[in-house]
Amino acid sequence: MPAVVAEAVDAAGSGKNGMGARRVSEWMRAGASPAAESNAAPALSRAELKQVAIVSGKGGTGKTSIAASFAALATEKVLADCDVDAANLHLLLHPEVRQRQEFHGAKVAFRDASACRACGECERRCRFAAITREKVDVHACQGCGLCVLACPNHALALETVACGEFFLSDSRYGPMAHARLYPGGESSGRLVTEVRRHAEVMAMGANLRLILIDGPPGIGCSATAALVDVDLAVVVTEPTPAAQHDMLRLLLLLKHFGIPAAVILNKADLDDANRQSILQMCEAMGATVIAQVPFDDAVTRAIAAGRPLIEVDEGPAARAIQDAWAATCQLLECATI
Ligand code: SF4
Ligand code: SF4
Repeated sequence: MPAVVAEAVDAAGSGKNGMGARRVSEWMRAGASPAAESNAAPALSRAELKQVAIVSGKGGTGKTSIAASFAALATEKVLADCDVDAANLHLLLHPEVRQRQEFHGAKVAFRDASACRACGECERRCRFAAITREKVDVHACQGCGLCVLACPNHALALETVACGEFFLSDSRYGPMAHARLYPGGESSGRLVTEVRRHAEVMAMGANLRLILIDGPPGIGCSATAALVDVDLAVVVTEPTPAAQHDMLRLLLLLKHFGIPAAVILNKADLDDANRQSILQMCEAMGATVIAQVPFDDAVTRAIAAGRPLIEVDEGPAARAIQDAWAATCQLLECATI
């Protein structure tokens, strides 16, 4: 493992980064939780935090691999895996879960069978075919509440359902907030917001200035929730027409919200024409290309080993990612992170 990575990992994992870092397990031994400390005076204010989201226009660009290497390179940070629909950062960082809580998000219709007279009015009114006089399909129900209003016997009500769970964990790379959306679960954007809220509380309480977010791919609700108020979005893309198309949509979204964008072109040497086209697009959109990471078998080997690339290899891809991290720090104007 390169010395710079070993130092960063040691500092993060031991809490010896000189800033009074606190592990989630220490909170729990003290009979508290990071969430409970939201009432205590934090060491940092929210405005003092720096937040970087690593995102992509589409899945499969190598975003999480790069996020894992950034996690190994950064010190004084809290990690937030906000890719709640397909969370997999934990497969590379192996956090130890210290606290687990069910997340109740969407509302769906529930029926009081004793009050129902089987008139079928709810079934006739529902536009989503989510209810019959016998049962409610909780996966189809949109929680619009029309059936509740329509039921002549007041047999229906909207109730929240568990749609996922979130975790506060310790890892050798620092504290980590992450989550898992149940299959078919709604409200991924709200779950992302919940993960970020806990990451912020941990960072402020533990005097850790940086939050490193592994964001969801795309431009939907959960991606937007991961990007709100970040200081920098690092967009990971690859030289294919599909990736370029989806990167443009993401850059337009970032421009709309006024979020500075940096781009990492992953597997950059696989197609020169598409690479050039992406570089031109980044220039036109005002996005800084901070690294062109070459295709490297070492990436696949690191994923298979369940480790961040930067910890197990010093080849061309690992070096490019180190450069990308240095450029990210410069863009954040916090070279000491
Ligand atoms: S509208 Fe009310 S009473 Fe009629 S079937 Fe639906 S739940 Fe039962
Ligand atoms: S809440 Fe709306 S979507 Fe759900 S069953 Fe009632 S009418 Fe259908």
